[in-house]
Amino acid sequence: MPMTDVYDVIIVGAGPGGMTAALYASRAGFKTLMIEKELPGGQMNNTALVENFIGFPSITGSQLSRKMYEHATAFGAEDVTALVQTIEKLPNELFLVKTDGGDYHTRTVIVATGTQNRMLEVPGETDFAGMGVSYCAICDGPFFRDQRVAVVGGGDSALEEASYLANIASEVHLLHRRDTFRAKPYLQEEVKQNAKITIHYNTSITEIMGSHEVEEVTLQEGSLKRGLSVEGVFIYAGQIPQTSFLQPLGILDEQGYVKVDERYETTVSGLFAVGDILPKAIRQIANAVGEGAVAAQSITAYVKVNN
Ligand code: NAP
Repeated sequence: MPMTDVYDVIIVGAGPGGMTAALYASRAGFKTLMIEKELPGGQMNNTALVENFIGFPSITGSQLSRKMYEHATAFGAEDVTALVQTIEKLPNELFLVKTDGGDYHTRTVIVATGTQNRMLEVPGETDFAGMGVSYCAICDGPFFRDQRVAVVGGGDSALEEASYLANIASEVHLLHRRDTFRAKPYLQEEVKQNAKITIHYNTSITEIMGSHEVEEVTLQEGSLKRGLSVEGVFIYAGQIPQTSFLQPLGILDEQGYVKVDERYETTVSGLFAVGDILPKAIRQIANAVGEGAVAAQSITAYVKVNN
């Protein structure tokens, strides 16, 4: 294999962390490839408005994704749409990255694959996916104009999207399994002040029902079971790290998050990880971006030492 075919760095995942790493690496003159299975931007594409990324007082998630993508590729980083299946370290110290669209060799890898939505795993959830069940208010909210919707969860996402949906739907029922939210206090205040939002604490959905589309959910409130008529169910039950393809490398913790050192390097030398797949308390665009910058700088040192 000609060494001109070998990348200095392959970045897996084009969320804010991955795209920042691509910007820094390509700008530093490294041969850089970014591999993303869907649209650049990751979870930002599912966010209605971003209001806490410095320099952008209010921007839609998809606009910020597009701006980041244009910037990330402005210094020569290549990008390809493909699903990474395995990453293997070869005896010659190069990595072999296998995807459903071909194989690539690289000196270093930065994994930034983020998380996917956790499902409730209740009857009807899969049957009515796209027929009233959604994990993305910004994508599907407009279909529920003047209709009744339920939002499940008690984190930042659930409360933020409940407020967003209240601008569209006639009624929003916020269903949380405990009696306190984990969301930020200002988001709690917003939902409590919104006359269109009814909060149901200590409440779980046990079934989602309808004929062709969602018509009703069954609620469990303590020992009480009852039906609630809604046309839409928006599920924000947290995230699961997209790291199963890294399992053979032995770099995951019990929850599937990637363990790294302060330079964002794993125990496999030359393999780095950034963004929401790290075990950490705060998962924000701002810290993912910082991690991408640090990992790309760490690669500068790694490639110098190992070549
Ligand atoms: P999260 O913080 O993990 O919250 C998930 C929520 O879903 C929790 O309230 C949890 O209940 C509930 N839940 C989990 N499994 C459930 C089940 N089987 N049935 C019913 N409810 C279930 O997830 P997130 O809200 O998506 O946030 C993820 C990360 O992104 C967080 O770090 C968050 O701060 C960040 N984020 C930040 C912003 C912002 O700053 N504007 C916006 C969105 C997200 P329990 O509370 O009982 O566990």
